[in-house]
Amino acid sequence: MFQAILINKDDTQQKASLERLDETALPAGNVTVRVAYSTLNYKDALAITGKSPVVRSFPMVPGIDFSGVVEQSDDAAYKPGDKVVLNGWGVGEKHWGGLAELARVNGDWLVPLQAPFTLRQAMGLGTAGYTAMLCVMALERHGVTPDKGPVLVTGAAGGVGSVAVAVLARLGYHVAAVTGRPHEADYLRSLGAQEVLDRAEFTEPGKPLAKERWAGAVDVAGGHVLANVCASLMYRGTVAACGLAAGMSLPATVAPFILRGITLAGIDSVMCPKEDRLEAWRRLSQDLDPNKLTDVVHDISLQDVVPAAERLMNGEIRGRVIVPVHPQHP
Ligand code: NDP
Repeated sequence: MFQAILINKDDTQQKASLERLDETALPAGNVTVRVAYSTLNYKDALAITGKSPVVRSFPMVPGIDFSGVVEQSDDAAYKPGDKVVLNGWGVGEKHWGGLAELARVNGDWLVPLQAPFTLRQAMGLGTAGYTAMLCVMALERHGVTPDKGPVLVTGAAGGVGSVAVAVLARLGYHVAAVTGRPHEADYLRSLGAQEVLDRAEFTEPGKPLAKERWAGAVDVAGGHVLANVCASLMYRGTVAACGLAAGMSLPATVAPFILRGITLAGIDSVMCPKEDRLEAWRRLSQDLDPNKLTDVVHDISLQDVVPAAERLMNGEIRGRVIVPVHPQHP
């Protein structure tokens, strides 16, 4: 038997709870992993609360991320005792995920734990952290270097935002952090933000073109926030767009694209090719101060996952959440 968060749905509503399940219920897969740490991402909170149709089949164990130790493997790449990490690939959406004591997955979806990270640190970063790094890499690919001007990070006190602020600041960028939580200004400055801006400046419909302010941006919000970011990018600036915390829509005009040559770089972590994932993890090991990660994370138990998902949806959770399932030392 093993414990897992299970989401069930009947005709009218869905419900998530902590359950004891038999191992025979695990889905098909060629590698079984004893989960050491999982985490709570925005997408997990959407799945658990049912606020968005993230889950494709029921019952579902949520959890798009886990780190753990291989228990059994029919994949030549892995043997019992190996430390592994999983991010995405539809796990926790259409294949049972990581908010559980055991996970059975396709070995192709795993990556070996990347040095120097511990299993715990890998989940401290999780999909949010690795996506933040994919965003930074996209800005670099499009020529946004620290000398080009300030960069903006929206949803800065959240998971992706916190890691993006810390990495960009460490790389020498002048970082402006946008938050709806002014009481987190000290936290954001401790991560390296040089300016903290009120989210309200970005949430209302704006002009097609605004004052050129940002050489680059990482946007987790979408909606009017992303439209306003596009309108205020400098000539040939780039915004890496990864999220929809403010909404799915993009109520923008083509003006900044055709008059200022800006780039909208889309970021997807779920189906991201393995080589890019490994590069993002390598870059995190190089460009994120591990001490900053300590400030960003806090722990919750598997029992607390369901209420924490509600809090995350309400924008009440700062940084990243780790769920220690079978904690490992170190
Ligand atoms: P968090 O919940 O940790 O952070 C989201 C942050 O967005 C909040 O903390 C808040 O920050 C801000 N926010 C909340 N509501 C609004 C709003 N209405 N308008 C503007 N900002 C808002 O989530 P994550 O950081 O884990 O994920 C952020 C987004 O990125 C999500 O939409 C998620 O789905 C997406 N994502 C996409 C991935 C991909 O592969 N494309 C991978 C990972 C995440 P503050 O209080 O500071 O304003």
